Amino acid sequence: MADTVQEFVFNLTFPFTRTLGTTLSTFSSALAQGQIIGVRTGGRVIAPPLEYDPDTAADSGNDWVRVGPKGTVSTWTWVPEPTNLHPLDHAFGFAFITLDGADTPMLHLVDAGSESAMAAGMRVEAKFKAPADCVGRIDDIIAFVPAADPSPSEGAGEPFVAPEENDITEMDAFCDLQYVDNASPTTIMWAKALMEGRIIGQKCPQCDRTIVGPRGMCSVCAIELDESHIVEVPGRGVVSNFTIVTPTPYPGQTETEPFARCSILLDGADAVIAQQEILDVPVSEIRVGIHVEVVWAPENERSAADIDNRSRGSGGDIIVGWRTTGEPDEPAARYLDRMM
Ligand SMILES: [Zn+2]
Repeated sequence: MADTVQEFVFNLTFPFTRTLGTTLSTFSSALAQGQIIGVRTGGRVIAPPLEYDPDTAADSGNDWVRVGPKGTVSTWTWVPEPTNLHPLDHAFGFAFITLDGADTPMLHLVDAGSESAMAAGMRVEAKFKAPADCVGRIDDIIAFVPAADPSPSEGAGEPFVAPEENDITEMDAFCDLQYVDNASPTTIMWAKALMEGRIIGQKCPQCDRTIVGPRGMCSVCAIELDESHIVEVPGRGVVSNFTIVTPTPYPGQTETEPFARCSILLDGADAVIAQQEILDVPVSEIRVGIHVEVVWAPENERSAADIDNRSRGSGGDIIVGWRTTGEPDEPAARYLDRMM
């Protein structure tokens, strides 16, 4: 069963925008101008500034202070092989850097060339992007680099006067997460059966319910089910629920018109197979009670690649969809007692 996947790699990526609030707006707006700031609260300078004093939870206020651009590394860790998600494409250090004029360290990168160049107590200096490329994000500072002149930063510790209104009040961010999931035994059984043109479920010996596709347990009795409880069910059933999805444009959405996703209660089953497409009924005429039968992809076009643990019961690319049988609609009372 060459097409039966055993491992799934998920990529979760999406852009989003967040509002910054007063304190971070002031920090970001100053950063875009090449100035790092902190806030004086509780007798010390916190940089980057926090909205609340971490010791007392009191409002930090707006006694802004210029800090940096030089600072001192207190602790660090070396990243010898950066991934595509790291900010630099070559080996670098993550470090806590206490900027001149500040009393608390900030986390940033140190681009020191080699691990042997890193040391606690080393003096470093912020290296900014070109002014036109600065947008008020923490990566406007490309990295900290070893300071050519270790003497104190000019102007550090002096007051910073924030403008009446900050230029930057929002930040664009990007989530990029990859993770791997291993196929469960029931997912493998389900995919293998579909590839052979069979729909299977598991019949609970305690309550006699048939669950499609197999879940490895009865969700009513909470008992384990295994291969010995596998039963085959017919590729015929009734639409029991449906949702009309009106697509909104987002990265990866290929649909442009409203479409229906239906749950189907197969003959002899007690749990529905969800997220199915009815092939020959316009969206406006989708309703519960329609009798349908499965339409398989041709054997040489079947692939189980899209069947994973999360889409339990879905047909991936193996089930093309469902077509109506032409029988009169089933009265709702006949399929009220069902499980999702
Ligand atoms: Zn049961």
